[in-house]
Amino acid sequence: MTIVGIDLGTTNSLIGVMEKGRPRIFRGEDGGTLVPSIVAFDAKGKPLVGSLAKAGKIQNVLRTIYSSKRFVGKGGKDVEPWMHLLPFDFSKSDDQMVRFSINDKTYTPIEIAAFVIRHLKNMAQCQMLEKVEKAVITVPAYFNDAQRQATKFAGELAGLEVVRILNEPTAACLAYGLDKKARGTVAIFDLGGGTFDISVLRISLSVFEVLATNGNTALGGDDFDHAIAEKLGKEITEVTGLNPMSTPEGRSRLISEAEKAKRALSDATETLFEWNYCHTRFERSLSRSELEKWILPIVRQAEDPCRRCMADARLNPEDITDVILVGGSTRVPLVKKLVEEIFQRKPICTLNPDEVVAIGAAVQAGVLMGQAGELLLLDVIPLSLGIETMGGITAKLIHRNS
Ligand code: AMP
Repeated sequence: MTIVGIDLGTTNSLIGVMEKGRPRIFRGEDGGTLVPSIVAFDAKGKPLVGSLAKAGKIQNVLRTIYSSKRFVGKGGKDVEPWMHLLPFDFSKSDDQMVRFSINDKTYTPIEIAAFVIRHLKNMAQCQMLEKVEKAVITVPAYFNDAQRQATKFAGELAGLEVVRILNEPTAACLAYGLDKKARGTVAIFDLGGGTFDISVLRISLSVFEVLATNGNTALGGDDFDHAIAEKLGKEITEVTGLNPMSTPEGRSRLISEAEKAKRALSDATETLFEWNYCHTRFERSLSRSELEKWILPIVRQAEDPCRRCMADARLNPEDITDVILVGGSTRVPLVKKLVEEIFQRKPICTLNPDEVVAIGAAVQAGVLMGQAGELLLLDVIPLSLGIETMGGITAKLIHRNS
């Protein structure tokens, strides 16, 4: 029975499998391996997933759900700080669960994730010409138990038995270790669209041992986009008299153009920012140094978890053999600079940061199918577990990083 590996990302998701001892990542309808984690509904409530949903995102802004991984395991109150930036209708959310209202129905982040997983499963089935019933799904290492359970439940809703939940940095390390036949102490710095994880692992022969992990489940490239959008949104209002944040479509267009400019500035030092809406046009050149000034306070939030992770592993930067970058946001030059400053060495950028987690998930799936040789994975729990005792105090039973 085939087991697939799924990287269920905030921005994009991927699915892969081990074939003849090598990982294979499946391609979507647009020919690429990245499937946008976006679900759009038409007026009748029929869902559209992936690149087709992304293509209509701005025209169909009120019925398109993206970045929903940020809301997994969260209640309405938790998302209040972001609400003004997102075009979704959260009004049916309660303290336990975020709910997106579309047409006259509501969807939880679990159901949205299930649509994405089902789409990935169908993609793999069509290309393998075989039924897929089991999967390994990756999650940010710093996901808590509720978020892990929610991910597992999403897999089950999509008709899959989730045989293992694997931490994303651990998956990346599996891909790296297998590729380079590496040994040593490796730091995995993983900054995606909505989450940040840092893990330190020791690799010796075929044993992968996580020494410590830390992170922030609400830090990622989306926050860069929002910071750029806030700055430029104010400028647009000053220059044109039109507030782009006042309508869902204007806001969505602004955030999408902010993201485009951010990506361009990873390669170029200057780019043209354009915003067109309701016969109003705004354009100006944007430099990398301006972008860096705006996002610096956000990028710096990754520093403290890195230092705490090294302290928990009882290591100093000079004890780290390699630093591996994972996640699309590690393409931002300022992020690379920060990593170099913290770990006092240049990070490895040779692995494709978009695919490395999916490759690791496929490898773990291969191990469970007995196809990837002998490999032992020892992981840790990111957050302490305990029981509530008298007076509402938690007595820790299992400490984090054990
Ligand atoms: P992931 O969750 O790993 O798919 O990463 C998605 C995040 O990476 C999004 O916030 C993207 O905007 C960001 N991203 C992707 N490519 C680039 C790039 N070339 N420069 C800057 N950010 C990027």
